[in-house]
Amino acid sequence: MSTTQTTVYLIDDEPELVSLLSEVVTQLGLSVRGFTRAGQFFKEVRQFTNDAILILDLHIPEMDGIEVMRRLVQMDNPPALVLISGRDIGVLHAAEKLGRAHNLDILASLTKPVSLQRLRQLLEIHMAGSPKVESNPRDRLKYVPSPEELQQALRQDQLVLHYQPQVDIPSGVCTSVEALVRWHHPEHGLLLPKGFIPMAEQYDLITLLTHWVVEHVVEQSQQWQRQGISLEVSVNISARDIIGSTLPKQLYGLLESKQLDPTCLTLEVTESALMGELAGSLDILTQLRTKGIALSVDDFGTGYSSLSQLLKAPFSELKIDRSFVSRLTTEAEAQAIVKTCILLSHELNMRVVAEGVETKEQYQQLRELGCDMAQGYLISKPVPAEEIKPNMVFRP
Ligand code: C2E
Ligand code: MG
Ligand code: MG
Repeated sequence: MSTTQTTVYLIDDEPELVSLLSEVVTQLGLSVRGFTRAGQFFKEVRQFTNDAILILDLHIPEMDGIEVMRRLVQMDNPPALVLISGRDIGVLHAAEKLGRAHNLDILASLTKPVSLQRLRQLLEIHMAGSPKVESNPRDRLKYVPSPEELQQALRQDQLVLHYQPQVDIPSGVCTSVEALVRWHHPEHGLLLPKGFIPMAEQYDLITLLTHWVVEHVVEQSQQWQRQGISLEVSVNISARDIIGSTLPKQLYGLLESKQLDPTCLTLEVTESALMGELAGSLDILTQLRTKGIALSVDDFGTGYSSLSQLLKAPFSELKIDRSFVSRLTTEAEAQAIVKTCILLSHELNMRVVAEGVETKEQYQQLRELGCDMAQGYLISKPVPAEEIKPNMVFRP
């Protein structure tokens, strides 16, 4: 765990809001520095610690929020951002997208009047985490490993899979888990996928990595079966795995040799991959589906797919992106999107999973809206296989 105290910076031109928000931050035991002008902020703050956070009002005089984000991109180690705006929600979303496109870590965006409860929750979630497994994730995003290091890591089994439970909302029973890869780097500790998956894709190492993941998932599933733990497992795959088309062969071979039921496996592809590179390879996905392997659209709502595109491949599951779930109980627009995703999935006979469920309120609302499954820190963070117990039931 980090030993230095986290600093939360605030920039808002309303001094009353700065002092109100400062109070919330201090109550959580974090140190705070408030500014009413961005110019002053940049004059006084030249560098950030790894877990720093900046709460930024987009509409400030002289240098506005967008300009602040531009300046942050040019600095080493920029803080994670919480954006706030008193105007149109569309402005917030556009700013969020812009920030993400520049690799800024956007924790959330909030409309004014700012819900103090939501802010508290956000900061708590950012700071929380089981130290053993998932602590201080921002540290681990900083190191950029080389392709050679990843090849070595694959050979030396430095990768490890963590599993995040998914529960059936009506019963609370954990029926499946998602396998999420981590890298135990010998010098830099536990690295998260964001720090090496894009590199693996860029340097054509993703197929090797997916093979490693699939092999370990199949082995783990067998082990769970032997222990009487019955769980479906979801695996994230990249467009390259499908286009290269070695994955189906590997999968059929493994499932046959290990005598594993294909219906216990789900392959997740992101909506943006589906609409981009994968658009021409839907036949391979269809082939996988006919063998009984389930297919899931991951991060749904972020990839601009049309209904007809969705219908072209036989998906069995849709995962509503975390960015909508996180705003479900505070923004009418997000609620409308989540509701529509649920209706759409059910019309298409697909199971619908909400990603990134962090609060009881979100869980309750998802239940009322008829969402089938939930996954998120409220239920459990991703954990090592040994921490997955038989008959896990979630009671909110
Ligand atoms: P994803 O497939 O959408 O996985 C969900 C991500 O959200 C995971 O991040 C998980 O730890 C995180 N998450 C789950 N619940 C919550 C929550 O309540 N709050 C918050 N803030 N986050 C939550 P992770 O493990 O860092 O993985 C990020 C992405 O990396 C994954 O997104 C997936 O696209 C990719 N990835 C992970 N493992 C693999 C893999 O084996 N192969 C490939 N190709 N991609 C992978
Ligand atoms: Mg996924
Ligand atoms: Mg996802």
